[in-house]
Formats: sequence, structure tokens, C-alpha cells
Amino acid sequence: MKKDKISLGLLAIAGFLVASYFMVSACREYPVQYSVYGRISSLLMLLNIIVMIAWLAFDQIGLWVFICLSSLLTLFVAIVTNTVFLNYQIPLFFAVGFFVTIFKNSMVSYGLSVDRKVDALEEEHNALKAQYSNMQGTNDALKEKVIRYAALKELTARLSSSLSLDGVINIVIDNVSELVEKSDLSILFLVEEEAQELALKAVRGKAGPASIKSKKGDVFDLWVLKQRQPLLVSDTDKDFRFNLELIPEEFKRQYKSLIAAPLISNKKVIGIMRIESKEPEAYMSDDLRLLTIISDLAAIAVENAKLYHRIEELAIRDGLTGLYCHRYFKERLAEDIIKVTRIKQPLSLLMLDIDDFKGYNDKYGHIAGDIVLKVIGDSLQSSVELGDLAARYGGEEFVLILFGKGKAEAQRFAEVIRKKVEANKFILRQVETHVTASIGCATFPEDTNSGEELIRLADGALYEAKKQGRNRVCLA
Ligand code: GH3
Ligand code: MG
Ligand code: MG
Repeated sequence: MKKDKISLGLLAIAGFLVASYFMVSACREYPVQYSVYGRISSLLMLLNIIVMIAWLAFDQIGLWVFICLSSLLTLFVAIVTNTVFLNYQIPLFFAVGFFVTIFKNSMVSYGLSVDRKVDALEEEHNALKAQYSNMQGTNDALKEKVIRYAALKELTARLSSSLSLDGVINIVIDNVSELVEKSDLSILFLVEEEAQELALKAVRGKAGPASIKSKKGDVFDLWVLKQRQPLLVSDTDKDFRFNLELIPEEFKRQYKSLIAAPLISNKKVIGIMRIESKEPEAYMSDDLRLLTIISDLAAIAVENAKLYHRIEELAIRDGLTGLYCHRYFKERLAEDIIKVTRIKQPLSLLMLDIDDFKGYNDKYGHIAGDIVLKVIGDSLQSSVELGDLAARYGGEEFVLILFGKGKAEAQRFAEVIRKKVEANKFILRQVETHVTASIGCATFPEDTNSGEELIRLADGALYEAKKQGRNRVCLA
């Protein structure tokens, strides 16, 4: 019971006792005078107030107890004073009681309905709060997505600006570690077309370029290559799909989780993009989805770069022999002359022309002549060393740039070539045929300082070889 209720209760009890005392003492003044009636009436009014106070202090029970006590007191006073009209007061007490009860009940039910409304509002408020935090989560996720898509757009723009394979590889490896956070190492493999195995192309650590020992991939990369599917490994120690024992000791690295996705082009796996972390559980399926998108973009860019390289090769190569064409030879000669000038080295040019080729064509046919050109082209290509260049100058004429070779060395080399051409056998309708070639040789800077002049001098030496009876090497 609260303090204020206790004091109300005491007030009601004290009030009742005081009123009872005065009423009983009023009864003693018998026969009752007019003024006494007035006093009794006032006391009865006071009792009504006391009843109300009792209600506030003791609730419904207190109300009815005090009504009963007041009614008994009134009945007693009425009987003692022989005053019948006082009995009318009794229904008044009960009327007050009923009124208070009905009023209270209606107040309670009103209170209940208010409570219900408050509850409903509170519920609605909580639902809105949950919805808000939910929306905030979605908002954050969307923000993250927008950032990622902007980065992907940037990557696409960068990739489409590069046509070289090395450029594409560098762009992919640089961007993937930025896009997928938590990566300790990003690795890109491409599939070697001939061997159909993985070849390491680029590795990037957190701080920049890095290196790894397994150049052909491990169990995880081979799984992606075979299954042609993206892979998420949350903890390498707990993933029983993979047997880590199969990784040779020298190839083992410190990683606990990884994601990998295949680069697929024309339904073929052309590479694998992999990211790994030293921490377990570093990646979620969202990260793998992003890596798959990057891999798809990378696959297109790699394929484009390869295609561009092929087209470029086609444009600079001769269709029949596969050697470089006249135009490309001219460009390379100019470049190589600049290079040898810088490193103070010589450069020799051989010009080779097949002897009496018109006669060969006339005798064995143009197709047979083509075969001869092709075989000689192959033989020249296989003879040149790294840094040298063999090209078809036109018709049945070939040129060779011998990088870093002086006159004597070039002459020896030309002699080897001449003998090779002479040694070739062409069997046509069971007839063994042969061709010979004349070669002119000029050397930079010994003979001239100009590229154009070098060609002219080699051509002059070739003319001299023809004049001297063909199948020989002449120097400028
Ligand atoms: P030489 O060089 O010894 O003076 O005599 P040649 O008969 O080789 O001289 P020329 O340069 O006059 O003739 C070149 C011949 O090469 C003419 C042409 O029939 C032949 N020829 C040029 N291009 C091709 C080609 O692509 N295929 C074939 N089959 N023959 C070609
Ligand atoms: Mg000719
Ligand atoms: Mg000729």
C-alpha cells in the first residue's frame, strides 16, 4: 500500500469515528431539537465524503464496508431519535456506492482501451523501428554495391583501354586486390593452349608484386580448372574435398581461406583468378560473386588481347611463308639500327634471291614453286637466332636482319643458309628437284650509316652474285 493511501485510510477511519461520536452524542439530546437535526444532516453529508475517502483508500471493499457502517449508524440514529426521515439517507449511501462503482468501471474500461491503444502504438513503433534498421541494413548493402559497381565500371573502362595481354594481366591483378578486400595474395593463371595446363601469369601481395613457387597451380586451382566452377574454401583445414597432402612441401603457403573463379571464353577455361587469406572465414559468397564478375570481365579482355595479337601478326606476316612481310621488315630495320647504334654493335643484312625461279615455275608449275618458297621460308625462320629477323621481301626474294653480327660472321651465316637451300630436296612426280639461291650481304655501320642504303648495298651485292654465276654469297 502506498503512503498516500495509508493516510487516506486513516483519515476515513478517523473521520468515521469522529462523525459517529458526534452523531451518537447528538442522540443524547432527546427529544431532538430542530438544531440537532441540522447537525445530524451535516454529519450525514460528512459521512458521504468519508465513504468517498474510504473508496480512494481501500478501493471497492472499503467503499462498501463504509457504506454499510454508515447505513447502520444512520439506522441506529434514526431508531434512537425516532426520526424516520433519516432512513432516506441509507439509499443515498448506496446510490453513492453504485454511482462510484459504475463510474470506476467505466473509467477502468476506458483506461483499458487507452492501454490497448498504447500497446498497439508501441507495437507499431517497434515494427517501424525494426523496419527502419532493416532498411538501414539494405541501404548500407546498396551503398556497398554501388561502390563495387563503380569500381567494376572503372575496371571495365581500364580493361577496354588495353589491347596487350601483359597490360590486361596487370590491370586485372592490380584491381582485383583492391575490389575484393581481405586479400593477402591475388593470383592469376592462364591456360597454356598447347599443353592445356595452368601457367602463372601474375601474383600480387598486399604491398605490391609478389611471387609464389607453384607455377602450375595446386589442388584448388586444378579443381576449378576441372570443375569449371567458382570455388569458396572457408577453412582449408576443415574442407574435406581437398587433400592438402597432395601439395608438395616446397609449394605450401600460409593461407586458411580462398576464393577462385575460372576465366571462361567460348565455353573453355582460359585461366583462373584466385584470392587467398591467412585468416579462416575471410570470404563470403558475395566476395565470390564479385570475383566471378571480375573473372568474366578478365576473360573477355584476355581473349580480346589474344585476338588483337593474332590480327596484328596476320597483318605483319606473309600468308604463304609465315615470315614477316616487307613493310614490317622495313620498320624493324629502322628500329634495330637505332638499337645497335645505341649499344655500339654491328648489324648485317642478307638479301637472298632464288636462282632461275622463273624456269623452275615453268618446268614444275606454280604450285610446286609455292612449296619451294614455303620450305625455304621455314628453313630461314628456323635458322635465325633470337633478336634476328627473317622476312619475305617480295616474290622469291628474302631478307634477314642479323642483329649484332659483323661482316665476317654474316658471311659465314649466309654460307650456311646458301648450303641449306642447296641441300633441300623437292620430290615432284617422283623426280628429285633442287633450287639454289644467291645472297648479297651488307653491314652496318661498316658499309653505310643508313638503313635505306644498307638495303641498296645488299641488293647490289646480290646482283653481283647473280652476275658471277649465281649460287654464291657476295659482300657489299
Ligand atoms: P634469277 O633470279 O636467277 O635472275 O632468275 P629468276 O627467274 O628467279 O628471275 P626473276 O626475278 O625474273 O623471276 C622471278 C620469278 O619468281 C617470277 C615468278 O614466276 C616467280 N615468283 C615470284 N613470286 C612467286 C610466288 O609467290 N610463287 C611462285 N610459284 N613463283 C613466284
Ligand atoms: Mg627475283
Ligand atoms: Mg630469282
